[in-house]
Amino acid sequence: AAKINVLLLGAKGVGKSALAVRFLTHRFIGEYHSAVTIVYRHSMVVDSRERVLEIVDSSAKPGECSLHKAEISAADSVAVVYSVTDAESFSTARRCLQRVHEIRDERPPIALMANKLDLDHCREITRTEGEELAEEFNAHYAEVSAAESSSDIEPTFLYLVQKAVGC
Ligand code: GDP
Repeated sequence: AAKINVLLLGAKGVGKSALAVRFLTHRFIGEYHSAVTIVYRHSMVVDSRERVLEIVDSSAKPGECSLHKAEISAADSVAVVYSVTDAESFSTARRCLQRVHEIRDERPPIALMANKLDLDHCREITRTEGEELAEEFNAHYAEVSAAESSSDIEPTFLYLVQKAVGC
């Protein structure tokens, strides 16, 4: 398809909006609030074809993935985000991964994004714990920071886009 739908899931406050904005604008937007689910549209060339990337930011709703059945069904790929500084958000990430596996017989490409790496001094979840969770759900693992320009955000979104189109 010419349109690629990437869904962002995860607890409130883990940085889903900040990651989408960083990927699309190369900027960090500190406070960003919206009362509706936002779809960011961005055209890009993938596999030598012009495509429209839609990033569906589920932030407006509470982080519990039970509410996102329609979005999960429609997603070409999924990014599950948690914050390394928030163990509760790691539990939510697990529930989101379970939910995706439950709803989708045909599993979409999934990336598990451990965000807020810049706050390493407040870390509650280790890299090993993150890697093990990703492995359990056959997801690509990346540690990122929406607050830092040098972060692995772009390769992770590109991974999701390329997997979605099958390359
Ligand atoms: P969302 O609810 O998952 O969309 O989270 P937001 O994108 O609204 O971010 C929640 C809060 O965390 C905001 O105050 C952001 O500025 C902050 N934030 C997001 N990503 C990072 C990050 O990588 N590092 C730090 N230090 N703060 C972040």
